Amino acid sequence: MILRLQKYHLDVRYKKGTEMYIADFLSRASLPLRKIEPTLKDYEIVAVSENISFISELENINAAECITVTDQRLDQIQRLTQQDVNLQTLKSTILAGWPKQREDTPVCVRDYWTFREEMSVQNGVLFKGSRIVNPPAMRSEMLQRLHGSHLEAEACIQSRARDVVYWPNMTVDIKDHVGQCTVCSEMRPKQQKETLVSHEVPERPWSKIGVDLFTLHNEEYLVQVDYHSDYWEVDKLTNTTSTSVVECMKAQFSRHGIPDTVVSDNGPQLTSREFAQFAKDWEFSHVTTSPYHSQSNGKAESAVKIAKNLIKKTQREVATQLLKPEVVDSVSSKKALKHRKAKLYYDSHAKQLPELTVGQPVRVQPVPSDTTGKWHHGTCVRQVSTRSYIVDIDGKEYRCNRKFLRSTSETTPPKQLPEVTCEIEPDSHITAKKTTAAKTSPVVKPPPSSPPVPAELP
Ligand SMILES: [Zn+2]
Repeated sequence: MILRLQKYHLDVRYKKGTEMYIADFLSRASLPLRKIEPTLKDYEIVAVSENISFISELENINAAECITVTDQRLDQIQRLTQQDVNLQTLKSTILAGWPKQREDTPVCVRDYWTFREEMSVQNGVLFKGSRIVNPPAMRSEMLQRLHGSHLEAEACIQSRARDVVYWPNMTVDIKDHVGQCTVCSEMRPKQQKETLVSHEVPERPWSKIGVDLFTLHNEEYLVQVDYHSDYWEVDKLTNTTSTSVVECMKAQFSRHGIPDTVVSDNGPQLTSREFAQFAKDWEFSHVTTSPYHSQSNGKAESAVKIAKNLIKKTQREVATQLLKPEVVDSVSSKKALKHRKAKLYYDSHAKQLPELTVGQPVRVQPVPSDTTGKWHHGTCVRQVSTRSYIVDIDGKEYRCNRKFLRSTSETTPPKQLPEVTCEIEPDSHITAKKTTAAKTSPVVKPPPSSPPVPAELP
């Protein structure tokens, strides 16, 4: 109306209804052509000729002409709408007029009840407002087109398609479709970090220790740190074999006692048969962290940092005992408090991932060296500790921390991927438990005496 009135210079004055002769007259004396008179009653269109052309314009609006689909596509939609029993019921409901009660409508069209006033039929095509009601036979094709550029579900929903097509539960269908997309599952971003599972502060000193190796100025060192007091020892190693590591540890154990638990990463010296035998003979339990998840061995890692710093600073021969143990009495409570604070702070930026169930299909985050960056398809075989799982990838079993695993709703394993994506190095964060060929790394073969899978830190 605004457009139509632009060519007039209007002088607007207020008049009482009884003085509005033309409008008053027109509102009562309807033209025989006017089928939609009631809706026009309120428009006070002064010029009669304008009025008639306006009415004919209203009558001629055909949503089918305003939509941007090819004739071919429109034919297809018309044909499939014609063939679909439910859509034909919907069409006849629209044409006959909707019943007063939802319960009185046929079951198959009740999904449309809420917005029944938006529903219309034009040229054999059903519309919800200006959106085409997509026949069921076309929905899967439409989903593929919507997700053709592999946008996230939310982006697909927000896309222009939403303005053009419609079917009941379209949003849910889009989310399902995107959730099952193999390409998207392979190329997911890293997961948000999980809440902190802190190590409990042990009751007494040297009952739980962390072990780690490091190299500085071409020399190898071994750090052993007490979880109770943070007291640590550093030893220079003659070499990095298990024998050398075990000798150093025996020496420290003789001084401080044998711990109940030793925590380490999956370094070959620490996962060897020899080390397992050492743990068995000296009767301590050995807990390893997930590969590429050094966070779990944070205690030893931070001791390594301090040790390195000190060595760099002093530039001296490293004595075996660099620091005196702290006085133990007040340590425990202070440390517990510090721990709680740290956990609180860490958790404010983290969330806990739900547990996985056995047999569940998963996607495994690629290792940093995997240039394809693709998340591998696998199946959850079993849980080995709070946040560690054994997963099966192409018939091989790997151990992964929960944060590297995403549940997926893909049902069938995807086709064999190109060779490169399946090559997972033995020292990768997904550690092969069963290797096929000449991969002799001791990492992958736990000694027969130890449990089939080393327990892992949360
Ligand atoms: Zn996709």
